[in-house]
Amino acid sequence: MNGINMEHSSDLVYEGKHIGEHSYDQRSKKYREIELEGGKIDFFDPKGKVIHETKKSNAFEKAHIAQVKYYQYLLDKNGVQNATGIIEYPKQKKVLKLPALTENDFEEIQVWTERVEHIGQSQEMPPKKNKPSKCRNCSYFDFCWVEETE
Ligand code: SF4
Repeated sequence: MNGINMEHSSDLVYEGKHIGEHSYDQRSKKYREIELEGGKIDFFDPKGKVIHETKKSNAFEKAHIAQVKYYQYLLDKNGVQNATGIIEYPKQKKVLKLPALTENDFEEIQVWTERVEHIGQSQEMPPKKNKPSKCRNCSYFDFCWVEETE
């Protein structure tokens, strides 16, 4: 919300992008990188209206689905209706297909965005949640965990 984006300096994001670009070379040509207000989609097939995400993770995570659903939502807001998604896990050779958003999805995403806006407008930061498995690899680690010394 304040225009701070740490992803360019994240080794993990770079590694994820590298996996995305090189795991499925033969498919990469039909995808475009597109930048929308509110997010950047690294791999979008405009012809088939498919968002493609590649994850290095060993685990299927709710956050991966939420990320792609949010991209679908952004596309809809920008006039591209009924986009679908594919999340690939090359290490596990698994593929997750996401259908077009339903009315329920739109309502759920609206709640997410309202919660984010509420946090952004608050004077107080919400308390940190100590989740070492998440924080260790997060682009925002320094903001959350480095403290000033006297
Ligand atoms: S470092 Fe941890 S608490 Fe901070 S944004 Fe990342 S995941 Fe959240």
